Amino acid sequence: MRFVSTRAKDGEGFTASDAILKGLCLDGGLFIPAEMPSSLPGFTLSRGAWYAMYTAIRPFFEGDELEDDLEDICRSAFDFPIAFHSNDGKDTLELFYGPTAAFKDFGARFLAFSMERLLARRGEDLTILVATSGDTGGAVASAFHDREHLSVKVLFPKGRVAERQRRQLTGWDGNVSSYEVEGSFDDCQKMVKDAFMDSRYTGLSSANSINLGRLLPQYAYYVWASNLYYERYGVKPIIIIPSGNVGNSTGAFWAKAVGAPIERIVLAVNANRTIPDYLESGSYEPRPSVETLANAMDVGAPSNMERLFALFPSYEEFRPNVSSWSVSDDEIRATIKEEWEENRHVICPHTACGERVRRDHFPSDPTIVVATAHPAKFDTIVEPLIGKTLPIPRSLYDIMHKESKAREIAPDYNLLFE
Ligand SMILES: *Cc1c(COP(=O)(O)O)cnc(C)c1O
Repeated sequence: MRFVSTRAKDGEGFTASDAILKGLCLDGGLFIPAEMPSSLPGFTLSRGAWYAMYTAIRPFFEGDELEDDLEDICRSAFDFPIAFHSNDGKDTLELFYGPTAAFKDFGARFLAFSMERLLARRGEDLTILVATSGDTGGAVASAFHDREHLSVKVLFPKGRVAERQRRQLTGWDGNVSSYEVEGSFDDCQKMVKDAFMDSRYTGLSSANSINLGRLLPQYAYYVWASNLYYERYGVKPIIIIPSGNVGNSTGAFWAKAVGAPIERIVLAVNANRTIPDYLESGSYEPRPSVETLANAMDVGAPSNMERLFALFPSYEEFRPNVSSWSVSDDEIRATIKEEWEENRHVICPHTACGERVRRDHFPSDPTIVVATAHPAKFDTIVEPLIGKTLPIPRSLYDIMHKESKAREIAPDYNLLFE
C-alpha cells in the first residue's frame, strides 16, 4: 500500500510509516492512499472495538515496516472504552472516554505509539512542536508523555485558554514541556513554522491533525460503528459528525470508500459556514474563523478539505456526496437544554451541533450522531443550561490535580531551545 500527495497523485508514493514520520508532503499536499483497499478483511464484532479497528487499519500497512507491530500498537493506543449508545436507531457514538476526554485521543495515541516504534527501529529521536489554542495540545501532550525517543513542546497563548484546558497543557513533566507565550495563537503557530524553517534546529516534527497517523483511527472507528449499527438494525446509518478541520469526517468518507455500511455522511458545523456555503453556492471560499461555543470547531479554512476534494474533485461530485448544515450558538444552547430535558442526556456544545442537525433534518431516519467530547470539559457552558454540576471523568480529575508547570516566554522561537 502506497500513499501519495493530494497535489501529485502520480508519484511512486510512500509507505504508511514514511507518511507518518513526514507529516506533510514535500509539495505541501496531504498524504492519501494511492488507491483505497478494495475490500476489508472480515472481523467479528465480539472481539471488541480495538480489534475491529486494527483489522480495518491493517490493509493500509500491507508491506509496511510496522506491519507486524500494528496489532500491539492498536492494543496499546486504543486501551480505553468506546461507547455506542443505542436509542431505537437514533444512536450516539461516544468517542470521549480517552485520557483527555475527546476523540482526538484516538489519533494522537495511535500516532505516538507508531512514531515510538519507528524511531526505536531507526535509532532516532524527535521533538514534536505543537501550537494549540485548546484541545489538540492536551491530546498530543497526553499521548506522547513517557513515549521513548520523543519529546514534546506545547505552545499556547497566555490567558486565552480555559482553565481546564490549561491544566491539560501544563500538568506534565518528563518529556513534555509547556510554553505559555505572551502573544496570540497565531504567534504560537508562527513560532512553530519559523523553528521548522531554521536549519540550526533539527529533529523536529509535528503532530497536527493532517498527519496520516491521526486520520487512520478516525477511519477505523467508523468501520466498527457502522458494522455494529448494521448488524443491530439491518439498515445503513446516516452518520452526523460535528466538524471543524474535517479530519474526523474524512475518516468517515474513507470508511465508506472501503465499503463500510454507511448510507450518508453529514457534516454539522457551527457558525463557521465555509462548507455549507460551498454546497449552496458552488464556490469554495475559505475565510478567517469566528468564535463560537463549540470552539474546537472554530475553523474557517478546514485543512483536511484538500483530502475531501481528492475524493470528490468537482462540485458535481462533491454535492451529492457531502451534506452540511450550520448551527448557531443559540441553537447549541437550546439543543443542550432540550436533550437534557427530553432524554436526560448531557451533551457538549460540539455534539449539540450534530444533535441539532439530526433533529432538524433527519428526525425519523437511521442516524448516528458522533459525540466528540465529554460535556464536563465544557462545564462553564453546559452546567448553567442543565442546572446541575457534572461529575468529572477520572482522567480529567487526575490531570487537574497535578502541579501545573509552564514557562512564560516572549513570542521568539529561539527561546524554545534554551
Ligand atoms: C477537534 C474537535 C472537533 C472537530 O474535529 P475535526 O476533525 O477538526 O473536524 C469537534 N469536536 C471536538 C470536541 C473536537 O475536539
